[in-house]
Amino acid sequence: MIVIRSPQEIEKIRNSNKIVAEILGKFEKGVSAGISTLELDQLAEKIIRDRGGVPAFKGYRDFPASVCVSLNEQVVHGIPSKKRKLKNGDIASIDLGVLLDGYFGDSAITIGVGSISAKARKLMEVTKDALYVGIKEARAGNHLYQISQAVQEFVEGHGYSVVRDFVGHGIGTSLHEEPQVPNFKPDGNGMGPILKKGMVLAIEPMVNVGSYKVKVLKDNWTAVTVDRQLSAHFEHSIAVTDGEADILSVLN
Ligand code: MG
Ligand code: MG
Repeated sequence: MIVIRSPQEIEKIRNSNKIVAEILGKFEKGVSAGISTLELDQLAEKIIRDRGGVPAFKGYRDFPASVCVSLNEQVVHGIPSKKRKLKNGDIASIDLGVLLDGYFGDSAITIGVGSISAKARKLMEVTKDALYVGIKEARAGNHLYQISQAVQEFVEGHGYSVVRDFVGHGIGTSLHEEPQVPNFKPDGNGMGPILKKGMVLAIEPMVNVGSYKVKVLKDNWTAVTVDRQLSAHFEHSIAVTDGEADILSVLN
């Protein structure tokens, strides 16, 4: 069942997402080579707790940190580490979840460290644009997989691939709720459930330069591309309305 959230609930989901957006905004502006991925994690956790929130990922299925930092060929769920410092030319996907007052926020960005290759920049641009292409389809009356199909066609039209093993999701009083929001049109004729005003979705294309295939490393978390080519990830939490989606994981 896909939950329909009241306007009051949507404001609560927005409030938790604003903490997420504040932190990701800081990272977007201020991350440079030399900082360890653990320092990013500690900074995020401090801000979350200062704002009265709880890091949603910490302890989720025993994940050990507040943020996922996934570098270069890492797709998602990278574990922050004291040893791994950001280097010039890295791309870092930073995924963050916050619980505040019973409601969750979830958003992700990919940032370039120092000067990055044209190839990496293009991948990041296409992935970010794919997120907005998907968001555009998220409106009452559309079918869920119109989002999926639009993202897939856009990404594949640029010669990249969309990850199959991880998908977006509903979000609200749990971090992951129904429905799953794939970034590809699932097999079969159906276009999925009809979207209704008040549904809240985390849309999150994960885009690979090469094959869509990924595998999980021995740490049981870090997903990498099988061909070790670059991957990028952008995510927003949005509320479905009768018109344009209401993007909740932004500051204003
Ligand atoms: Mg996320
Ligand atoms: Mg998510």
